[in-house]
Amino acid sequence: MPHQIPADGTLLPLMEEFYTIQGEGYHTGKAAYFIRLGGCDVGCHWCDVKESWDAELHPLTAADTIVENAAKYPGKTVVITGGEPLIYNLDYLTSELQKRGIKTFIETSGAYPLSGNWDWICLSPKKFKAPRLDVTPYAGELKVIVFNKSDFEWAEQYATQVSENCKLYLQPEWSKAQAITPLIIDYVKENPKWEISLQTHKYLNIP
Ligand code: SF4
Repeated sequence: MPHQIPADGTLLPLMEEFYTIQGEGYHTGKAAYFIRLGGCDVGCHWCDVKESWDAELHPLTAADTIVENAAKYPGKTVVITGGEPLIYNLDYLTSELQKRGIKTFIETSGAYPLSGNWDWICLSPKKFKAPRLDVTPYAGELKVIVFNKSDFEWAEQYATQVSENCKLYLQPEWSKAQAITPLIIDYVKENPKWEISLQTHKYLNIP
C-alpha cells in the first residue's frame, strides 16, 4: 500500500534521525538533531543519499514522536533535511518544535512551496529541478554545491535571487572535492562575497 501522507503534516516519512554536529554551511560546528525525511524527485546524479528518494521505503512517523525524540537532547536545534523535506507540509512539525524551545533549520532545494516556521533556511539549489522564486527570498544562506567549473556561473544566477543579507557559500561536491576545492579557493579570493563551505562532518567521520 502506498503511503497515505496526511496533508496536515502530522505523519511524515522518516528515514533517520540522529544527534550530531552540523558539518556544513553557516551553522557549522553546532550540535543539532538531524531529521531526515524520505522522498525526493530532484534527481541529482551525485546525490549521496539516494536511499532517501523513495518515500515508501521510510515509515510514516508521528510528528509528535519526532518532536519528543528531538527534545531529549541538550542541543536545542534541529536540522530538517532529506530527501526534499518541502515535499511535505512542515507547519505542524516546526511549530511543535518551536513550542519546545527548539530552533528549526531546514536544508532544501527550494523546489517545493515553503511550509513550516523556520529559524534558518539553507537553500541549496539544484540544476535538475530549479528552486521556486517564492522560496529564494527567504534563504538565510545559499549553499551551492560545485560539481564542475560551469557551476560558478550558475551559482551567480542564484546570488541575484536571494535577499541582500543572505550568506553565500560554495561547497565542493564530495566526490570531486580534490579537484574542485582549489578552484573554489581561487574563486572566493576573487569574489569575496562568497565563502567556502566544507563537509567537515565527513572529515570528522561523524554522520
Ligand atoms: S535534492 Fe538532495 S536528496 Fe534530492 S537528489 Fe538532490 S542531493 Fe539528493
